[in-house]
Amino acid sequence: MTILLDGKKTSVKLLIALAEKIRPLNKKPKLAVIIVGDNPASKIYVDLKQKRAEAVGIESLIIPLSEDTSQEALLEHIDILNEDSSIDAILVQLPLPAHIDTSKVIRRIAPYKDVDGFNPINIGLLASGGIPSAYPCTPCGIIKLLNEYKINIEGKHAVIIGRSNIVGKPLAYMLLEKNATVTLCHSKTQNLSSVTKSADILICATGQPNLINAQMVKPNAVVIDVGVFRGDDGKLYGDVDFTSVSQVAGAITPNPGGVGPMTIASLLENTYRLYNLHKSFTEN
Ligand code: NAP
Repeated sequence: MTILLDGKKTSVKLLIALAEKIRPLNKKPKLAVIIVGDNPASKIYVDLKQKRAEAVGIESLIIPLSEDTSQEALLEHIDILNEDSSIDAILVQLPLPAHIDTSKVIRRIAPYKDVDGFNPINIGLLASGGIPSAYPCTPCGIIKLLNEYKINIEGKHAVIIGRSNIVGKPLAYMLLEKNATVTLCHSKTQNLSSVTKSADILICATGQPNLINAQMVKPNAVVIDVGVFRGDDGKLYGDVDFTSVSQVAGAITPNPGGVGPMTIASLLENTYRLYNLHKSFTEN
């Protein structure tokens, strides 16, 4: 029988445990979120993050900036948050408007407040086997979901489709740390299905609706669908054709209800992690 890797249920469990840790604290962890422009999807994500943060007792400060905010003005906002000792964690909601250099913005966030773990110092630590201040939220959520269902990673062939800096690459480092044999695919990969068919763990993060069908999946493989694509019909589609793939996979995430809630849970756990890091700075 195919196991459903229920990210919604698992995330609720993680958030209840997190709320328990936060409840006795006098000073609550505080997350600042900068959102630039009116991207409707970004607004939905930020509202959701704020709602979940409040539910576990994390304070949130949302800083909405207009679409025409200059890069310099955005960097100044980050500097202020970096200096503000009441703020534990900073998130700049992506994507940013085209006139802003995203990598410059990410580099400006102090590594010890970098709740997404995207700053090159944190990514460099991750890539070199060190311990970053925070692990990128989506890969972290995926690893936690695999752990929750006791899926063995060591020695398995993990195939990731998508090589972005926020999902594919950091996830590859994290799976390598767990002794998987990792293959990272992208749009120039030749004969994709011959690679996917050899995967014990297949993780799809492309945003290409229904890219993966049953013929591309090894029987009993673990399939994780990260992709989110909104069709012209207004419906959301994942990378994986759930109906057919769930017939062959040994375990599979629903989408929605798989990776998305785990990403938010990881964000809030990261905020608490950074809060503790700051406490250790001030206590020492
Ligand atoms: P991205 O930066 O757009 O990268 C997409 C990756 O997919 C690229 O590496 C691209 O290859 C590869 N790709 C595209 N078409 C392909 C194809 N036909 N065959 C093989 N590879 C292909 O995406 P991202 O930011 O990582 O996000 C990926 C998806 O996950 C999006 O749908 C996003 O909305 C979703 N997402 C969901 C969550 C969540 O919490 N649920 C979190 C983050 C992202 P090239 O590098 O060669 O262009």
